[in-house]
Amino acid sequence: MIDFRSDTVTKPTKQMCEAMANAVVGDDVYGDDPTINELEALAATMTGFEASVFVPSGTMGNQLSIFTHTNRGDEIIVGRKSHIKNYEVGAAAVISGVSYHLINEVKGMMPLEEIEAGIRGMDIHYPNTSLICVENAHGTGVVLPLDYLQKLRKLADKHQLKIHMDGARLFNAATYLGVDVTEITQYVDSVTFCLSKGLASPIGSLICGSKEFIYRARKGRKLLGGGMRQVGILGAAGLISLREMTKRLHIDHKHARYLGEELDKLPEFHVDFDRLQINMVFVRSSLDLTKLAEYLKQYDILIGGYKGDVVRIAIHNDIEKADIDALLSRIKDYVKEVNNA
Ligand SMILES: *Cc1c(COP(=O)(O)O)cnc(C)c1O
Repeated sequence: MIDFRSDTVTKPTKQMCEAMANAVVGDDVYGDDPTINELEALAATMTGFEASVFVPSGTMGNQLSIFTHTNRGDEIIVGRKSHIKNYEVGAAAVISGVSYHLINEVKGMMPLEEIEAGIRGMDIHYPNTSLICVENAHGTGVVLPLDYLQKLRKLADKHQLKIHMDGARLFNAATYLGVDVTEITQYVDSVTFCLSKGLASPIGSLICGSKEFIYRARKGRKLLGGGMRQVGILGAAGLISLREMTKRLHIDHKHARYLGEELDKLPEFHVDFDRLQINMVFVRSSLDLTKLAEYLKQYDILIGGYKGDVVRIAIHNDIEKADIDALLSRIKDYVKEVNNA
């Protein structure tokens, strides 16, 4: 199968499987797992924070961060198209007891004036605003400019608010900008990133922040039932994600651009190049995408993530250029078939 549905479908590499089999482990709830300790220390260093904690998923990373930053009854400011708002089962309301102030993103960015207008004052009727959540890279395929984050930091400081970054694809964002990850994370109080997407680990995310914040997050992780024992098995793969896989994301980005440019040459397809910044290609098509997906499946090619007339094609470590050429050639065959029918 050539799987273009998401970058979450990546299989652990051979090197990861070997490292997992040979991992030195201990009971991580006691702080005794040397491999996870090494992973958390490396994640903190790479993101420029004091500390970090390993969690099973990006969703738990975001939700634990919200839980740790807020009090029950608070209101958080979050993008209308964000993962936190749309794809985490409304968890912030359930786990943290907060409500959302939603703002429409423009190219992934919530306009700063709208954020400021959304911050609640002292009125007795109002909930307390405590946190701004941003997503970077944004799920719509765009990366937040550094000067936007700098202005956002200033705004948050003015109103004494914290900023959490959902950086599921943080390293893709840094790769696109050509900067060290710390250039991005310097503007936020906490960040979550996924090892299990483009970085090819089977499982896991990290939350990074101050020592005090991570201490409380670690306690919150236990509260949620996320304290894990010999989790260095996953940490061993995670170390390879951080040391090796972060360095190859530019290949995925190049492949995504190649696919976008080739697809856009076909009159039945229109690629949104404004949001082709990382490893995801968003394509509008005049064809029936459900039928196209069924056709491709016969040839062991999977596409998914389509909404209406737009399909998202994700590139990752298990996709080579030849796989993209195979996809293109099947799509061209399909277009011919449809046009001749
Ligand atoms: C995938 C993703 C998450 C959550 O990750 P899971 O590990 O699937 O829970 C959070 N935010 C964004 C933007 C994502 O793409």
